[in-house]
Amino acid sequence: MNEFLNRLKELDVTGKDVVTLYNEISALAMEQAEKRIAPHAKRNAYYLSIEYLLGRAFFNNLMELGVLDEVSRILSEKGVDIRNFEEIEDAALGNGGLGRLAACFLDSAAALGLPLYGYGIRYKYGLFKQAFQDGRQTEMPDDWQKFGDPWSLRREGEKREIAFADYTVTAVPYDIPIIGERVNVLRLFQAEGSPQAEKISEYLYPADDTEEGKLLRLRQEYFFSAAAIGELTERYAKEHGKKFDDFGACNVIQLNDTHPVIAVAELIRVLTVQYKVSFDRAAAIAKATFNYTNHTVLPEALECWREELVRKILPDIADILVRLQRMQTKELKARGCSAKEIADMAIYRDGIFYMANLAVYMGTAVNGVAALHTEILKNTLFATAYRIFPEKFRNKTNGVTKRRWLMLANPELSGAIDGVIGTAWRDPREGFGALKEHIDALTDDFIAVKETKKRQLFDYIEQKEGVRIPDRFLVYAQVKRLHEYKRQLMTAFAVLELYHAIKDGALSDFHPSVFLFGAKSAPSYRRAKAIIKFINDISALVNNDPATKDVLRVVFVQNYNVSYAEKIVAGTDVSLQVSTAGLEASGTGNMKFMMNGAVTCGTMDGANIEIVEHAGKENNYIFGATVEEIDALKASGYDPNAVLAQNSAHNRAVSALIDGTFSDGGTGEYRELYDALTVGASWHAPDHYFILHDLSSYVHALVQINRDYGNRAMFARKQLQNVANSSFFSSDRTIAEYAADIWHI
Ligand SMILES: *Cc1c(COP(=O)(O)O)cnc(C)c1O
Repeated sequence: MNEFLNRLKELDVTGKDVVTLYNEISALAMEQAEKRIAPHAKRNAYYLSIEYLLGRAFFNNLMELGVLDEVSRILSEKGVDIRNFEEIEDAALGNGGLGRLAACFLDSAAALGLPLYGYGIRYKYGLFKQAFQDGRQTEMPDDWQKFGDPWSLRREGEKREIAFADYTVTAVPYDIPIIGERVNVLRLFQAEGSPQAEKISEYLYPADDTEEGKLLRLRQEYFFSAAAIGELTERYAKEHGKKFDDFGACNVIQLNDTHPVIAVAELIRVLTVQYKVSFDRAAAIAKATFNYTNHTVLPEALECWREELVRKILPDIADILVRLQRMQTKELKARGCSAKEIADMAIYRDGIFYMANLAVYMGTAVNGVAALHTEILKNTLFATAYRIFPEKFRNKTNGVTKRRWLMLANPELSGAIDGVIGTAWRDPREGFGALKEHIDALTDDFIAVKETKKRQLFDYIEQKEGVRIPDRFLVYAQVKRLHEYKRQLMTAFAVLELYHAIKDGALSDFHPSVFLFGAKSAPSYRRAKAIIKFINDISALVNNDPATKDVLRVVFVQNYNVSYAEKIVAGTDVSLQVSTAGLEASGTGNMKFMMNGAVTCGTMDGANIEIVEHAGKENNYIFGATVEEIDALKASGYDPNAVLAQNSAHNRAVSALIDGTFSDGGTGEYRELYDALTVGASWHAPDHYFILHDLSSYVHALVQINRDYGNRAMFARKQLQNVANSSFFSSDRTIAEYAADIWHI
């Protein structure tokens, strides 16, 4: 690295703009990273994911190379503030938690020195850039490559052809070094060769409400899966010959959700067609190679493909899937399964391929991403498979990398931790549980750090959104994708109730607070977009009311992404994690907040349960129905209208949708939101997500938090208990578990 620093010292910066400097400095660092890329190990793990939400590479890579402070110093001597590089936007080749998890996992594996390689797609445009116009979401293409792409290396010599029935495309690999104790590689494939080929890697999640869109999505999934399988089989044949007996001993593949599950059929296709392995052998090799992580129990998110669609562009794959189903039926019959059980687990039934069932049947291990979620998989979604193949099922509670989410996002808190327990906790194999013994000693420092991070956050928000949040406001934050099950709408109603109460003089001792929201809605998700508009309307009302603006503010930040998240998690006091119990598989945002000393105000859902187990119920604020209670409500007939009739505060807040308080511009969206709560919408019962059921305990919890915050030292101790108990939620722990229990690397 001395060579890098010497060359940086020699770098002439005069007259160069930020983008030019970014590219030149990154290129210098990249030379060092490239030299350190590790050769493959004897046994390697591969992570197949349709998303990687990497965030900004610049600061993270310099930190991982161990030169961040030094670079900052050298640049400042040249009159360049390293913070200028924050202008360089994130590479957002992902949507939310699933893609960010993939990025955290690669980071942790590199830090731990484990050979884990990522495979994915190099989208020309990542997740759209969001802005608000009159409170509504607008979407602009995310042209992330306009800043250059100094952190990836095009591997022209390793491109390969991927064949569809109608045309063939070229998959060109781009390697992104993932820097740690070991330098691994994330390989993203770009589709080239013709305008129609290029479409495959043009957009993350093309609109799939048309047949054409669905086909494109299937092509994307096959494209990167097949490119990965092509490489792995070719390398194996070169090194070990064409028998493939030890393929599963040398390669283990983790399927991140169902999107890459088609790789299972592709491996069988390559082995049988190209290497003349028998079908049964090929299927056995596939079974020894693949593992599957489930990320959701929402039925609409479990992928199935119509046979006709698959057959149209991938006829060989369709044949293999049908054949796998026959093999499956035979095995299940031999095990004495009933017709109903066989149908439950079927890979192929009535002209449809069920990708999750394929993954469960062919995977060695199937895992959920938090303890509760894995139990739900075993008892509900995959109950039949669990009865027949209990040995496949295991839990791997998610985690987040403490390097990006604590050391990089919050150097001030990291420094304070160093001050009491030393720096050993920064090692990926160490935790910071020792902090538990030093809570009192750290309290004052922690309060000071939180104030600093809050001021930085408010400055950033002012710069991005043009609104200034007054100093010392208590910060509640709900930042995550916009989805009805995450219940941003419930927070909106709760805020309206607080507003009404403050205005009516019923909440006179309320500590001044801001509610921060950040979320993108899928472009075609009408109700989610209406919720964004509703919250922005509330924001305009509350922030401009002279009677309340000194005690309550609402800010919906635009274009929530990894870089924004880094600022928000560090400056927040209260993390809002309020999904309907049973529906948030894990959550990882909750972990980032915990690590930075926010208390969780949340439901007993996903990893919230484990957060509370580790940090103590008394240090967090749990409210709302549990999974069992939700199930009981469903069984007994839940009536949200009865709640509205009994609770005038709820009724007043919910009625704001339709009583003329706000306008949806004549679109009928607000009436639809209201109707979804009171009469039901689509195929759902009224208030499908139990917002009105949980609203009252939610408001109560928010007020309790506000009161408790009055004793700043006591509240800080609760916050610190969360920091001190968050080591478990480091993805280093998660990856160590995957490596030991599933990958055996
Ligand atoms: C961590 C993260 C998420 C996931 O948040 P959840 O609250 O777990 O849904 C989504 N988007 C970004 C940008 C993130 O950093």
